[in-house]
Amino acid sequence: MHDAADKAAEDEERAMQLFEEGLRARRRPIDAGSIQVIQCLDCGDDVSVERQLAVPRTRRCTRCAAEVERR
Ligand SMILES: [Zn+2]
Repeated sequence: MHDAADKAAEDEERAMQLFEEGLRARRRPIDAGSIQVIQCLDCGDDVSVERQLAVPRTRRCTRCAAEVERR
């Protein structure tokens, strides 16, 4: 059974949930669900989602990234 007060409390709870989800999404630079395997800029190898999560915005595979750092 829902009266007006229960309904208001539910709405408030839902608003808080959405708010907290928004904060979490903003704090996390990359949403894992939106990442796709990309190809390395240098050698064309697949850059795994795991690597992209570990190194945000990387465009190179582990090997080529190491090469670039050595230069
Ligand atoms: Zn590469």
